[in-house]
Amino acid sequence: MKFKDAIDIIKRLSDGLGNNGYVKLANNLAIDALEKQIPKSPTNDRCQACNEDVRNWTGEENFKYCCSCGQSIDWESEGE
Ligand SMILES: [Zn+2]
Repeated sequence: MKFKDAIDIIKRLSDGLGNNGYVKLANNLAIDALEKQIPKSPTNDRCQACNEDVRNWTGEENFKYCCSCGQSIDWESEGE
């Protein structure tokens, strides 16, 4: 199962919960966490989720995850 599939399932479960605010809140947190596992390409070397600089200033390998919010970074499709 891919992260996207898990997100879709949790969203469908959440829709069926009616007014259960705490469970919906927990589901939304889970969805946010799962969405950060799906790699997103940086914009001008910045994280799409929080705008933090994700280019490694030491010149070594670029960060695979944003140090600020945990977003997975996809350097392969940068600029696409
Ligand atoms: Zn970030």
